[in-house]
Amino acid sequence: MNMTLINAKMVDAHCHLFSDAFDSDRDEVIKRAEDIGIARAFVMGEDPDENRRILEGSGKYPFVVPFAGYHPWKFEGHKETIREAEDVVSFIEENHADLAGIGEIGLDYFHAENEEPRALQKEVLNIFNC
Ligand SMILES: [Zn+2]
Repeated sequence: MNMTLINAKMVDAHCHLFSDAFDSDRDEVIKRAEDIGIARAFVMGEDPDENRRILEGSGKYPFVVPFAGYHPWKFEGHKETIREAEDVVSFIEENHADLAGIGEIGLDYFHAENEEPRALQKEVLNIFNC
């Protein structure tokens, strides 16, 4: 058997530890995850506020591997969305040394039932230069 696999660590490859849902018990959730052998969590940001909280949190919790992004389900109106997307790109540029990567961007048509929201998603993706 491959010894590298035996010594492999488990990670949570996508979670939202800095969503409001964990404000009351984030410390306990992280402790329970570490106690069962999860070495790290790749924590995704969905909007500017969550991106900032994750980056700050990664300084407090070595368990947290921070990713920043802007999820298409978070878009609210064209003008505000474009400004926020530009803010997220600036945030990533300013903090790239402390971020592991970009997450939660892309095209997600699950709730985009016509061309208008799909066009906005494409416009935002172009701001990310993808
Ligand atoms: Zn997610």
